[in-house]
Amino acid sequence: HADVAMYFAKEKGRNNYQFFGAEMNARAQERLSVENYLRLALRRNELVIHYQPRISVATGELVGVEALIRWQHPRRGLLPPGRFIEVAEDSGLIVPIGEWVLEHACALIADWQKRLKPGLRLSVNLSVGQVVDGERLYKAVSQALTISGIDPATLELELTESILMQNIAEKAALLNRLGELGVGLAIDDFGTGYSSLSYLKTLPVDSIKIDSSFVRDIHSDPDDLAIIKAILAMAHSLRLSVVAEGVETEAQFNALRDLGCDEYQGYYASAALPAAEFERKYGNK
Ligand code: C2E
Ligand code: MG
Ligand code: MG
Ligand code: MG
Repeated sequence: HADVAMYFAKEKGRNNYQFFGAEMNARAQERLSVENYLRLALRRNELVIHYQPRISVATGELVGVEALIRWQHPRRGLLPPGRFIEVAEDSGLIVPIGEWVLEHACALIADWQKRLKPGLRLSVNLSVGQVVDGERLYKAVSQALTISGIDPATLELELTESILMQNIAEKAALLNRLGELGVGLAIDDFGTGYSSLSYLKTLPVDSIKIDSSFVRDIHSDPDDLAIIKAILAMAHSLRLSVVAEGVETEAQFNALRDLGCDEYQGYYASAALPAAEFERKYGNK
């Protein structure tokens, strides 16, 4: 691997050979080792899913969970997705990893719907690499539904605006087919990507997740308040439900409640938890 890095470095010209070579080498090796270990991690069952509750603003009731992946690394400890998702995407490993998440999270939610709460909803994040091969994604989703036996209406797929904006016509065909399966579609990190909003009428969107950057200062910054007000007004007139992300404090929660936000996630209710811990916390409700 070091040789490959050196070879590419050399092509860039003799002058920056040493500098570029050394830097490239370290970075390329780091990436390659993360990729190789990630491949092994999938096989060795080191990937784990944590579940963050999604709560009704009006009633405080648990309405769903978002599946959030982590890597239980044998030496480095529990790694958040920010540490490995990019490598998973660049290497294509995100496809089998995403399928693993879908299958496992759907199986667990089937069990929780029986034991914890009927109708409990599940949200699963999708990466750009998973929507490239639409046929494979469609199969993975149908298979996860069939194996788990859950009502498709209780599964929601989360996509960001930036993923949707690339090749929108192609995406629309895929998402409409997924919509016909009965699964919901949520726009994640809403407001952070550039977008024309026209996709809201062409795609089978069910809910919008307001990015935490707008929520953070909602109680003190009139601009953030205005933005959230506008998002809620637009979403509600399109009959979309609105979820606020990253709600950490009572002040933020109160502001969202006064504005009529539908649901929220955030440390104010709970961080994402391992399945067993989630069951202990929400098992008797
Ligand atoms: P996301 O889908 O927007 O998830 C929200 C992130 O905010 C999660 O970080 C969550 O743990 C964190 N969070 C929740 N409540 C709070 C809060 O009150 N305060 C703060 N500061 N943070 C909060 P996490 O788990 O590190 O995930 C980061 C991103 O990684 C996710 O953003 C999602 O884009 C991606 N991701 C996670 N799991 C998967 C997966 O299975 N597949 C794919 N493709 N992407 C995933
Ligand atoms: Mg998400
Ligand atoms: Mg729908
Ligand atoms: Mg988000």
